[in-house]
Amino acid sequence: MSLITHWIHGKRVEPSGERTQPVFNPATGEETARLGLGTAADVDRAVASAAEAFEAWSQYPLGKRAAVLFRFRELLAAHTDELARLVSREHGKVVSDAAGEVGRGLEVVEFACGLPHLLKGEYSEQAATGVDVFSFREPLGVVAGITPFNFPVMVPLWMSPMAIATGNTFVLKPSERDPSASLFLADLWQKAGLPDGVFNVVQGDKEVVDAILHHDDIAAVSFVGSTPIAKYIHATASAQGKRVQALGGAKNHGVVLADADLDDAVNHLTAAAFGAAGERCMAISVAVVEDSVADALVEKLAAKARAVKVTSGDQPGADMGPVITAAAKERIEGLIGSAERDGAELVVDGRGHTVPGYEGGFFVGPTVIDRVAPAHEVYREEVFGPVIDVVRVSGLAEAIDVINANPYGNGTAVFTSSGESARTFQREVKVGMIGVNVPIPVPVAWHSFGGWKDSLFGESHIYGPEGIKFYTRGKVVTQRWPHREQRADASFHFSGDSQK
Ligand code: NAD
Repeated sequence: MSLITHWIHGKRVEPSGERTQPVFNPATGEETARLGLGTAADVDRAVASAAEAFEAWSQYPLGKRAAVLFRFRELLAAHTDELARLVSREHGKVVSDAAGEVGRGLEVVEFACGLPHLLKGEYSEQAATGVDVFSFREPLGVVAGITPFNFPVMVPLWMSPMAIATGNTFVLKPSERDPSASLFLADLWQKAGLPDGVFNVVQGDKEVVDAILHHDDIAAVSFVGSTPIAKYIHATASAQGKRVQALGGAKNHGVVLADADLDDAVNHLTAAAFGAAGERCMAISVAVVEDSVADALVEKLAAKARAVKVTSGDQPGADMGPVITAAAKERIEGLIGSAERDGAELVVDGRGHTVPGYEGGFFVGPTVIDRVAPAHEVYREEVFGPVIDVVRVSGLAEAIDVINANPYGNGTAVFTSSGESARTFQREVKVGMIGVNVPIPVPVAWHSFGGWKDSLFGESHIYGPEGIKFYTRGKVVTQRWPHREQRADASFHFSGDSQK
Protein backbone atom coordinates (compact mmCIF):
# COMPACT_ATOMS: atom_id res chain seq x y z
CA MET A 1 0.00 0.00 0.00
CA SER A 2 1.42 3.39 -1.00
CA LEU A 3 2.31 5.97 1.63
CA ILE A 4 1.22 9.57 1.05
CA THR A 5 4.05 11.82 2.21
CA HIS A 6 4.90 15.45 2.88
CA TRP A 7 6.44 17.77 0.29
CA ILE A 8 9.33 19.72 1.72
CA HIS A 9 11.96 21.70 -0.14
CA GLY A 10 10.94 20.39 -3.54
CA LYS A 11 10.67 16.69 -2.76
CA ARG A 12 8.53 14.04 -1.12
CA VAL A 13 9.56 13.47 2.46
CA GLU A 14 8.37 10.68 4.76
CA PRO A 15 7.01 11.68 8.15
CA SER A 16 9.44 11.53 11.05
CA GLY A 17 6.91 9.74 13.29
CA GLU A 18 5.26 6.36 13.10
CA ARG A 19 1.60 7.33 12.93
CA THR A 20 -0.37 6.67 9.73
CA GLN A 21 -4.05 6.54 8.85
CA PRO A 22 -6.06 5.08 5.98
CA VAL A 23 -7.30 7.02 2.96
CA PHE A 24 -10.46 5.60 1.37
CA ASN A 25 -12.25 5.59 -1.93
CA PRO A 26 -15.67 6.60 -0.54
CA ALA A 27 -17.51 5.03 -3.50
CA THR A 28 -16.19 1.55 -2.71
CA GLY A 29 -15.31 1.90 0.94
CA GLU A 30 -11.87 0.46 0.17
CA GLU A 31 -8.63 1.72 1.64
CA THR A 32 -6.52 3.06 -1.23
CA ALA A 33 -3.44 4.38 0.56
CA ARG A 34 -1.93 5.20 3.96
CA LEU A 35 -1.32 8.76 4.97
CA GLY A 36 1.79 9.52 6.99
CA LEU A 37 0.80 11.84 9.82
CA GLY A 38 3.32 14.59 10.50
CA THR A 39 4.93 15.71 13.72
CA ALA A 40 6.10 19.02 15.13
CA ALA A 41 9.58 18.12 13.85
CA ASP A 42 8.18 17.85 10.31
CA VAL A 43 6.58 21.28 10.66
CA ASP A 44 9.95 22.66 11.84
CA ARG A 45 11.61 21.20 8.78
CA ALA A 46 9.03 22.64 6.36
CA VAL A 47 9.09 26.06 8.01
CA ALA A 48 12.90 26.14 7.95
CA SER A 49 12.80 25.37 4.22
CA ALA A 50 10.15 28.06 3.65
CA ALA A 51 12.07 30.61 5.72
CA GLU A 52 15.22 29.97 3.73
CA ALA A 53 13.35 30.21 0.41
CA PHE A 54 11.71 33.48 1.51
CA GLU A 55 15.02 35.33 1.36
CA ALA A 56 15.27 34.88 -2.40
CA TRP A 57 11.59 34.56 -3.36
CA SER A 58 10.57 37.83 -1.72
CA GLN A 59 13.29 39.55 -3.76
CA TYR A 60 12.29 37.98 -7.09
CA PRO A 61 11.43 40.67 -9.64
CA LEU A 62 7.67 40.90 -10.10
CA GLY A 63 7.75 39.94 -13.76
CA LYS A 64 9.73 36.80 -12.99
CA ARG A 65 7.30 35.90 -10.20
CA ALA A 66 4.37 36.43 -12.54
CA ALA A 67 6.00 34.18 -15.15
CA VAL A 68 5.99 31.29 -12.64
CA LEU A 69 2.32 31.94 -11.91
CA PHE A 70 1.47 31.96 -15.62
CA ARG A 71 3.26 28.64 -16.13
CA PHE A 72 1.46 27.17 -13.12
CA ARG A 73 -1.85 28.31 -14.61
CA GLU A 74 -1.07 26.57 -17.91
CA LEU A 75 -0.06 23.33 -16.18
CA LEU A 76 -3.15 23.34 -13.99
CA ALA A 77 -5.39 23.83 -17.02
CA ALA A 78 -3.61 21.05 -18.91
CA HIS A 79 -3.92 18.61 -15.99
CA THR A 80 -7.49 19.42 -14.97
CA ASP A 81 -8.93 16.08 -15.97
CA GLU A 82 -6.23 14.04 -14.23
CA LEU A 83 -6.54 16.12 -11.08
CA ALA A 84 -10.34 15.91 -11.16
CA ARG A 85 -10.17 12.12 -11.32
CA LEU A 86 -7.78 12.05 -8.39
CA VAL A 87 -10.12 14.29 -6.36
CA SER A 88 -13.13 12.17 -7.28
CA ARG A 89 -11.33 9.02 -6.15
CA GLU A 90 -10.54 10.32 -2.67
CA HIS A 91 -13.43 12.73 -2.11
CA GLY A 92 -16.22 10.94 -3.97
CA LYS A 93 -17.59 13.90 -5.91
CA VAL A 94 -18.52 13.54 -9.58
CA VAL A 95 -15.54 14.00 -11.92
CA SER A 96 -17.14 16.90 -13.82
CA ASP A 97 -17.84 18.64 -10.50
CA ALA A 98 -14.23 18.08 -9.43
CA ALA A 99 -13.13 19.63 -12.75
CA GLY A 100 -15.36 22.59 -11.89
CA GLU A 101 -13.55 22.86 -8.55
CA VAL A 102 -10.19 22.97 -10.33
CA GLY A 103 -11.63 25.64 -12.63
CA ARG A 104 -12.65 27.86 -9.70
CA GLY A 105 -9.17 27.49 -8.23
CA LEU A 106 -7.67 28.30 -11.61
CA GLU A 107 -9.52 31.60 -11.59
CA VAL A 108 -7.69 32.59 -8.41
CA VAL A 109 -4.38 31.69 -10.06
CA GLU A 110 -5.34 33.89 -13.02
CA PHE A 111 -6.11 36.76 -10.65
CA ALA A 112 -2.75 36.23 -8.94
CA CYS A 113 -1.01 36.35 -12.35
CA GLY A 114 -1.82 40.06 -12.30
CA LEU A 115 0.55 40.56 -9.37
CA PRO A 116 2.69 43.32 -10.90
CA HIS A 117 -0.43 45.42 -11.19
CA LEU A 118 -1.94 44.26 -7.88
CA LEU A 119 1.20 45.19 -5.94
CA LYS A 120 1.52 48.66 -7.46
CA GLY A 121 1.64 51.16 -4.65
CA GLU A 122 0.40 54.73 -4.42
CA TYR A 123 2.40 57.90 -4.91
CA SER A 124 1.84 61.49 -3.91
CA GLU A 125 4.23 63.86 -5.56
CA GLN A 126 4.96 67.17 -3.78
CA ALA A 127 2.89 66.20 -0.73
CA ALA A 128 4.71 69.12 0.89
CA THR A 129 7.33 71.37 -0.64
CA GLY A 130 10.06 69.08 -1.93
CA VAL A 131 8.45 66.08 -0.26
CA ASP A 132 7.08 63.01 -2.03
CA VAL A 133 5.17 60.22 -0.28
CA PHE A 134 4.69 56.71 -1.54
CA SER A 135 3.24 53.54 -0.10
CA PHE A 136 3.66 49.91 -1.04
CA ARG A 137 3.12 46.48 0.43
CA GLU A 138 5.63 43.83 1.41
CA PRO A 139 5.18 40.09 2.05
CA LEU A 140 4.84 38.77 5.60
CA GLY A 141 7.28 35.84 5.45
CA VAL A 142 6.28 32.20 5.96
CA VAL A 143 2.52 31.76 5.96
CA ALA A 144 0.43 28.61 6.50
CA GLY A 145 -2.84 27.26 5.11
CA ILE A 146 -4.99 24.61 6.83
CA THR A 147 -7.71 23.25 4.57
CA PRO A 148 -10.88 21.11 4.69
CA PHE A 149 -11.71 17.88 2.85
CA ASN A 150 -14.52 19.20 0.70
CA PHE A 151 -12.43 21.21 -1.80
CA PRO A 152 -8.97 19.62 -1.77
CA VAL A 153 -7.87 21.68 -4.79
CA MET A 154 -9.93 24.86 -4.75
CA VAL A 155 -9.39 25.87 -1.13
CA PRO A 156 -5.58 25.43 -1.23
CA LEU A 157 -5.78 27.55 -4.42
CA TRP A 158 -7.76 30.25 -2.58
CA MET A 159 -4.62 30.66 -0.47
CA SER A 160 -1.32 29.53 -2.00
CA PRO A 161 -1.29 31.50 -5.31
CA MET A 162 -2.21 34.67 -3.43
CA ALA A 163 0.45 34.12 -0.76
CA ILE A 164 3.13 33.15 -3.27
CA ALA A 165 2.32 35.93 -5.76
CA THR A 166 2.71 38.49 -3.00
CA GLY A 167 6.21 37.17 -2.19
CA ASN A 168 5.54 34.89 0.78
CA THR A 169 6.47 31.25 1.14
CA PHE A 170 3.76 28.76 2.01
CA VAL A 171 3.19 25.67 4.16
CA LEU A 172 -0.02 23.75 3.41
CA LYS A 173 -1.66 21.36 5.87
CA PRO A 174 -4.33 19.63 3.75
CA SER A 175 -7.22 17.56 5.00
CA GLU A 176 -6.13 14.09 6.08
CA ARG A 177 -9.16 12.59 4.31
CA ASP A 178 -8.18 13.47 0.70
CA PRO A 179 -4.51 14.46 0.85
CA SER A 180 -3.21 13.40 -2.59
CA ALA A 181 -4.26 16.54 -4.48
CA SER A 182 -1.81 18.59 -2.39
CA LEU A 183 1.13 16.61 -3.76
CA PHE A 184 -0.19 16.91 -7.30
CA LEU A 185 -0.29 20.70 -6.85
CA ALA A 186 3.25 20.66 -5.38
CA ASP A 187 4.49 18.83 -8.44
CA LEU A 188 2.86 21.36 -10.78
CA TRP A 189 4.37 24.27 -8.83
CA GLN A 190 7.79 22.69 -9.24
CA LYS A 191 7.27 22.11 -12.96
CA ALA A 192 6.22 25.76 -13.25
CA GLY A 193 9.67 26.76 -11.98
CA LEU A 194 8.78 27.71 -8.41
CA PRO A 195 11.98 27.54 -6.34
CA ASP A 196 12.22 24.73 -3.78
CA GLY A 197 10.85 25.67 -0.39
CA VAL A 198 8.33 28.26 -1.59
CA PHE A 199 5.46 25.73 -1.49
CA ASN A 200 5.56 22.94 1.10
CA VAL A 201 3.05 20.38 2.31
CA VAL A 202 2.92 18.83 5.77
CA GLN A 203 0.34 16.08 6.08
CA GLY A 204 -1.32 15.36 9.37
CA ASP A 205 -3.92 16.11 11.97
CA LYS A 206 -4.21 18.20 15.15
CA GLU A 207 -0.56 17.59 16.08
CA VAL A 208 0.60 19.34 12.90
CA VAL A 209 -2.02 22.07 13.19
CA ASP A 210 -0.96 22.86 16.74
CA ALA A 211 2.70 22.95 15.74
CA ILE A 212 1.80 25.46 13.01
CA LEU A 213 -0.25 27.61 15.37
CA HIS A 214 2.61 27.82 17.86
CA HIS A 215 5.51 28.16 15.42
CA ASP A 216 7.42 31.40 15.95
CA ASP A 217 8.47 31.66 12.30
CA ILE A 218 4.95 31.51 10.84
CA ALA A 219 3.55 35.00 10.35
CA ALA A 220 -0.01 34.26 9.26
CA VAL A 221 -2.51 31.42 9.14
CA SER A 222 -5.38 30.95 6.70
CA PHE A 223 -7.91 28.33 7.74
CA VAL A 224 -11.04 26.94 6.10
CA GLY A 225 -13.08 24.27 7.88
CA SER A 226 -15.79 23.77 10.47
CA THR A 227 -16.84 26.48 12.93
CA PRO A 228 -15.55 24.94 16.19
CA ILE A 229 -12.09 24.44 14.66
CA ALA A 230 -12.15 27.87 12.99
CA LYS A 231 -12.82 29.45 16.39
CA TYR A 232 -9.99 27.47 17.95
CA ILE A 233 -7.56 28.38 15.15
CA HIS A 234 -8.47 32.04 15.35
CA ALA A 235 -8.13 32.23 19.13
CA THR A 236 -4.90 30.20 19.32
CA ALA A 237 -3.03 31.77 16.40
CA SER A 238 -4.14 35.30 17.37
CA ALA A 239 -2.83 34.73 20.89
CA GLN A 240 0.51 33.84 19.30
CA GLY A 241 0.52 37.21 17.53
CA LYS A 242 -0.21 35.82 14.09
CA ARG A 243 -2.45 37.31 11.47
CA VAL A 244 -5.42 34.94 11.04
CA GLN A 245 -8.34 34.44 8.70
CA ALA A 246 -10.49 31.47 9.74
CA LEU A 247 -13.50 30.57 7.63
CA GLY A 248 -16.03 28.31 9.32
CA GLY A 249 -19.16 26.32 8.60
CA ALA A 250 -22.48 27.33 7.15
CA LYS A 251 -26.21 26.86 6.99
CA ASN A 252 -27.26 28.47 3.73
CA HIS A 253 -30.89 29.37 3.12
CA GLY A 254 -32.50 29.58 -0.31
CA VAL A 255 -35.62 31.72 -0.11
CA VAL A 256 -38.40 31.02 -2.61
CA LEU A 257 -41.01 33.78 -2.84
CA ALA A 258 -44.44 33.22 -4.34
CA ASP A 259 -43.57 35.29 -7.42
CA ALA A 260 -40.53 33.15 -8.31
CA ASP A 261 -40.35 30.94 -11.37
CA LEU A 262 -40.99 27.76 -9.38
CA ASP A 263 -39.47 25.28 -11.83
CA ASP A 264 -36.34 27.36 -12.13
CA ALA A 265 -36.05 27.68 -8.34
CA VAL A 266 -36.54 23.93 -7.87
CA ASN A 267 -33.84 23.13 -10.43
CA HIS A 268 -31.42 25.44 -8.65
CA LEU A 269 -32.31 24.12 -5.18
CA THR A 270 -31.85 20.52 -6.33
CA ALA A 271 -28.36 21.18 -7.71
CA ALA A 272 -27.35 23.39 -4.78
CA ALA A 273 -28.57 20.94 -2.13
CA PHE A 274 -27.44 17.63 -3.63
CA GLY A 275 -24.42 18.61 -5.78
CA ALA A 276 -21.22 17.20 -4.23
CA ALA A 277 -23.57 15.31 -1.87
CA GLY A 278 -24.23 18.58 -0.06
CA GLU A 279 -20.60 18.76 1.08
CA ARG A 280 -20.13 22.37 0.02
CA CYS A 281 -19.83 25.31 2.37
CA MET A 282 -22.13 27.18 -0.03
CA ALA A 283 -24.64 24.33 -0.49
CA ILE A 284 -28.24 25.33 0.10
CA SER A 285 -29.37 23.19 3.01
CA VAL A 286 -32.58 25.06 3.86
CA ALA A 287 -35.36 26.11 1.47
CA VAL A 288 -37.34 28.92 3.08
CA VAL A 289 -40.58 28.91 1.16
CA GLU A 290 -43.56 31.24 1.10
CA ASP A 291 -46.63 29.31 2.35
CA SER A 292 -48.75 29.77 -0.75
CA VAL A 293 -46.28 27.92 -2.99
CA ALA A 294 -44.84 25.50 -0.42
CA ASP A 295 -46.96 22.44 -1.31
CA ALA A 296 -46.18 22.80 -5.00
CA LEU A 297 -42.50 23.37 -4.34
CA VAL A 298 -42.15 20.34 -2.05
CA GLU A 299 -43.86 18.12 -4.62
CA LYS A 300 -41.54 19.26 -7.42
CA LEU A 301 -38.44 19.13 -5.20
CA ALA A 302 -39.27 15.59 -4.08
CA ALA A 303 -39.67 14.46 -7.69
CA LYS A 304 -36.29 15.98 -8.59
CA ALA A 305 -34.61 14.47 -5.52
CA ARG A 306 -35.88 10.98 -6.44
CA ALA A 307 -34.48 11.41 -9.96
CA VAL A 308 -30.92 12.27 -8.86
CA LYS A 309 -28.55 9.60 -10.15
CA VAL A 310 -26.42 8.50 -7.20
CA THR A 311 -23.36 6.41 -8.00
CA SER A 312 -19.57 6.48 -8.00
CA GLY A 313 -18.36 9.89 -9.17
CA ASP A 314 -16.43 8.43 -12.10
CA GLN A 315 -19.49 6.73 -13.64
CA PRO A 316 -21.14 8.21 -16.73
CA GLY A 317 -24.30 10.14 -15.95
CA ALA A 318 -23.57 10.40 -12.21
CA ASP A 319 -25.21 13.41 -10.53
CA MET A 320 -24.03 12.72 -7.03
CA GLY A 321 -21.43 10.50 -5.36
CA PRO A 322 -20.98 9.21 -1.81
CA VAL A 323 -20.21 11.26 1.30
CA ILE A 324 -16.64 11.36 2.56
CA THR A 325 -16.50 8.67 5.28
CA ALA A 326 -18.53 5.94 6.94
CA ALA A 327 -18.67 8.18 10.04
CA ALA A 328 -20.09 11.08 7.99
CA LYS A 329 -22.77 8.77 6.57
CA GLU A 330 -23.73 7.60 10.05
CA ARG A 331 -23.87 11.17 11.39
CA ILE A 332 -26.00 12.42 8.47
CA GLU A 333 -28.40 9.49 8.79
CA GLY A 334 -28.65 10.19 12.52
CA LEU A 335 -29.62 13.80 11.83
CA ILE A 336 -32.28 12.67 9.32
CA GLY A 337 -33.67 10.43 12.06
CA SER A 338 -33.70 13.33 14.52
CA ALA A 339 -35.92 15.32 12.14
CA GLU A 340 -38.54 12.59 12.24
CA ARG A 341 -38.40 12.48 16.05
CA ASP A 342 -38.63 16.29 16.24
CA GLY A 343 -41.89 16.24 14.26
CA ALA A 344 -40.76 17.26 10.78
CA GLU A 345 -42.07 15.41 7.73
CA LEU A 346 -39.66 13.13 5.88
CA VAL A 347 -40.75 13.46 2.25
CA VAL A 348 -37.75 11.75 0.64
CA ASP A 349 -35.60 9.63 2.96
CA GLY A 350 -32.04 8.95 1.79
CA ARG A 351 -31.09 6.66 4.65
CA GLY A 352 -29.91 3.17 3.82
CA HIS A 353 -29.23 4.08 0.20
CA THR A 354 -27.30 1.38 -1.66
CA VAL A 355 -25.76 1.51 -5.12
CA PRO A 356 -25.51 -1.79 -7.02
CA GLY A 357 -21.87 -2.65 -7.58
CA TYR A 358 -20.80 -0.22 -4.82
CA GLU A 359 -22.32 -1.88 -1.77
CA GLY A 360 -19.39 -0.86 0.44
CA GLY A 361 -19.65 2.83 -0.50
CA PHE A 362 -20.60 5.64 1.88
CA PHE A 363 -23.80 6.65 0.10
CA VAL A 364 -26.66 8.71 1.48
CA GLY A 365 -29.55 9.38 -0.90
CA PRO A 366 -31.00 12.84 -1.54
CA THR A 367 -33.28 13.74 1.34
CA VAL A 368 -36.13 16.28 1.53
CA ILE A 369 -37.57 17.17 4.94
CA ASP A 370 -40.68 19.36 5.08
CA ARG A 371 -42.10 21.44 7.94
CA VAL A 372 -38.75 21.88 9.65
CA ALA A 373 -38.65 24.41 12.47
CA PRO A 374 -35.57 26.37 13.61
CA ALA A 375 -35.66 24.47 16.93
CA HIS A 376 -35.18 21.09 15.21
CA GLU A 377 -31.76 19.50 15.50
CA VAL A 378 -31.53 18.95 11.73
CA TYR A 379 -31.88 22.72 11.31
CA ARG A 380 -29.54 23.73 14.13
CA GLU A 381 -26.69 21.46 12.98
CA GLU A 382 -24.65 21.87 9.81
CA VAL A 383 -25.59 18.51 8.25
CA PHE A 384 -23.01 18.65 5.43
CA GLY A 385 -24.81 15.97 3.46
CA PRO A 386 -27.45 15.67 0.71
CA VAL A 387 -30.28 16.91 2.89
CA ILE A 388 -32.58 19.88 2.36
CA ASP A 389 -34.91 21.22 5.05
CA VAL A 390 -38.05 23.08 4.03
CA VAL A 391 -39.06 25.87 6.39
CA ARG A 392 -42.43 27.43 5.57
CA VAL A 393 -42.84 31.18 6.13
CA SER A 394 -45.56 33.80 5.62
CA GLY A 395 -43.43 36.01 3.37
CA LEU A 396 -40.17 37.90 2.83
CA ALA A 397 -40.05 39.56 6.26
CA GLU A 398 -40.31 36.25 8.11
CA ALA A 399 -37.77 34.66 5.76
CA ILE A 400 -35.26 37.41 6.59
CA ASP A 401 -35.96 36.97 10.32
CA VAL A 402 -35.28 33.23 10.09
CA ILE A 403 -31.97 33.79 8.31
CA ASN A 404 -30.84 36.55 10.63
CA ALA A 405 -31.60 34.46 13.71
CA ASN A 406 -29.29 31.71 12.45
CA PRO A 407 -25.76 31.81 13.89
CA TYR A 408 -24.13 31.25 10.49
CA GLY A 409 -23.88 33.87 7.74
CA ASN A 410 -21.95 32.37 4.85
CA GLY A 411 -24.22 32.44 1.79
CA THR A 412 -27.89 32.81 0.94
CA ALA A 413 -30.06 33.19 -2.14
CA VAL A 414 -33.47 34.57 -3.00
CA PHE A 415 -35.62 33.40 -5.91
CA THR A 416 -38.09 36.07 -6.99
CA SER A 417 -39.25 38.09 -9.98
CA SER A 418 -39.51 41.26 -7.88
CA GLY A 419 -36.59 43.68 -7.92
CA GLU A 420 -38.05 45.36 -4.86
CA SER A 421 -38.07 42.13 -2.84
CA ALA A 422 -34.58 41.23 -4.01
CA ARG A 423 -33.25 44.64 -2.98
CA THR A 424 -34.92 44.48 0.43
CA PHE A 425 -33.45 41.01 0.90
CA GLN A 426 -29.91 41.95 -0.08
CA ARG A 427 -29.96 44.99 2.20
CA GLU A 428 -31.50 43.39 5.29
CA VAL A 429 -30.00 39.95 5.42
CA LYS A 430 -26.95 39.50 7.68
CA VAL A 431 -24.96 37.22 5.42
CA GLY A 432 -21.66 37.72 3.57
CA MET A 433 -22.52 36.38 0.10
CA ILE A 434 -25.93 36.77 -1.49
CA GLY A 435 -27.42 35.36 -4.66
CA VAL A 436 -30.38 36.84 -6.47
CA ASN A 437 -31.78 34.01 -8.60
CA VAL A 438 -28.24 32.58 -8.28
CA PRO A 439 -28.13 29.57 -5.93
CA ILE A 440 -24.44 29.35 -5.04
CA PRO A 441 -23.06 32.90 -5.07
CA VAL A 442 -19.35 32.12 -4.74
CA PRO A 443 -17.70 35.40 -5.73
CA VAL A 444 -15.49 35.48 -8.83
CA ALA A 445 -11.76 35.60 -8.10
CA TRP A 446 -11.46 39.38 -8.20
CA HIS A 447 -14.09 39.84 -5.46
CA SER A 448 -13.16 38.36 -2.09
CA PHE A 449 -14.99 35.40 -0.48
CA GLY A 450 -16.20 35.42 3.10
CA GLY A 451 -19.17 34.97 5.39
CA TRP A 452 -20.40 36.77 8.47
CA LYS A 453 -21.05 35.72 12.06
CA ASP A 454 -20.01 32.11 12.86
CA SER A 455 -18.89 31.57 9.26
CA LEU A 456 -15.73 33.69 9.55
CA PHE A 457 -13.37 34.67 12.34
CA GLY A 458 -10.88 37.42 11.62
CA GLU A 459 -11.04 40.68 9.73
CA SER A 460 -10.21 39.50 6.28
CA HIS A 461 -12.13 37.66 3.58
CA ILE A 462 -10.18 35.25 1.41
CA TYR A 463 -8.61 35.69 -2.10
CA GLY A 464 -9.28 38.72 -4.32
CA PRO A 465 -8.30 42.20 -3.09
CA GLU A 466 -8.64 41.20 0.58
CA GLY A 467 -6.31 38.27 -0.04
CA ILE A 468 -3.62 40.61 -1.34
CA LYS A 469 -4.03 42.72 1.76
CA PHE A 470 -4.04 39.74 4.11
CA TYR A 471 -0.71 38.42 2.83
CA THR A 472 1.09 41.78 2.83
CA ARG A 473 1.75 44.71 5.12
CA GLY A 474 2.03 48.33 4.15
CA LYS A 475 4.98 50.68 4.21
CA VAL A 476 4.84 54.40 3.58
CA VAL A 477 7.93 56.39 2.65
CA THR A 478 8.01 60.15 3.05
CA GLN A 479 11.06 61.48 1.27
CA ARG A 480 12.76 64.76 0.66
CA TRP A 481 15.75 65.42 -1.54
CA PRO A 482 16.38 69.04 -0.67
CA HIS A 483 17.84 71.40 -3.14
CA ARG A 484 20.77 73.23 -1.58
CA GLU A 485 18.95 76.54 -1.71
CA GLN A 486 15.86 75.09 0.06
CA ARG A 487 17.69 73.93 3.22
CA ALA A 488 15.91 75.29 6.28
CA ASP A 489 16.65 75.50 9.96
CA ALA A 490 15.38 72.75 12.21
CA SER A 491 11.61 73.02 12.72
CA PHE A 492 10.00 71.88 15.94
CA HIS A 493 6.46 71.95 14.57
CA PHE A 494 4.86 68.53 13.93
CA SER A 495 1.98 69.41 11.62
CA GLY A 496 1.12 71.78 8.85
CA ASP A 497 4.04 70.80 6.65
CA SER A 498 1.77 69.85 3.78
CA GLN A 499 0.25 73.35 3.75
CA LYS A 500 3.61 74.94 2.92
P1 NAD B 1 -12.68 20.31 9.81
O1 NAD B 1 -12.86 21.55 10.61
O2 NAD B 1 -12.95 19.00 10.46
O3 NAD B 1 -11.17 20.22 9.29
C1 NAD B 1 -10.54 21.31 8.65
C2 NAD B 1 -9.05 21.24 8.92
O4 NAD B 1 -8.84 21.36 10.33
C3 NAD B 1 -8.41 19.93 8.48
O5 NAD B 1 -7.17 20.21 7.88
C4 NAD B 1 -8.25 19.17 9.79
O6 NAD B 1 -7.13 18.33 9.79
C5 NAD B 1 -8.08 20.27 10.81
N1 NAD B 1 -8.62 19.87 12.12
C6 NAD B 1 -9.70 19.07 12.37
N2 NAD B 1 -9.89 18.94 13.69
C7 NAD B 1 -8.93 19.66 14.30
C8 NAD B 1 -8.62 19.92 15.68
N3 NAD B 1 -9.34 19.40 16.67
N4 NAD B 1 -7.58 20.73 15.94
C9 NAD B 1 -6.84 21.27 14.95
N5 NAD B 1 -7.09 21.05 13.63
C10 NAD B 1 -8.12 20.26 13.31
O7 NAD B 1 -13.54 20.49 8.49
P2 NAD B 1 -13.82 19.43 7.35
O8 NAD B 1 -14.77 18.40 7.86
O9 NAD B 1 -12.56 18.97 6.74
O10 NAD B 1 -14.56 20.35 6.28
C11 NAD B 1 -15.93 20.62 6.32
C12 NAD B 1 -16.21 21.92 7.04
O11 NAD B 1 -15.53 22.99 6.40
C13 NAD B 1 -17.67 22.30 6.99
O12 NAD B 1 -18.02 22.82 8.24
C14 NAD B 1 -17.73 23.37 5.92
O13 NAD B 1 -18.81 24.27 6.03
C15 NAD B 1 -16.43 24.05 6.14
N6 NAD B 1 -16.02 24.81 4.97
C16 NAD B 1 -16.16 26.17 5.00
C17 NAD B 1 -15.83 26.91 3.90
C18 NAD B 1 -15.98 28.40 3.90
O14 NAD B 1 -15.58 29.00 2.94
N7 NAD B 1 -16.52 29.02 4.93
C19 NAD B 1 -15.33 26.27 2.76
C20 NAD B 1 -15.19 24.89 2.77
C21 NAD B 1 -15.53 24.17 3.89
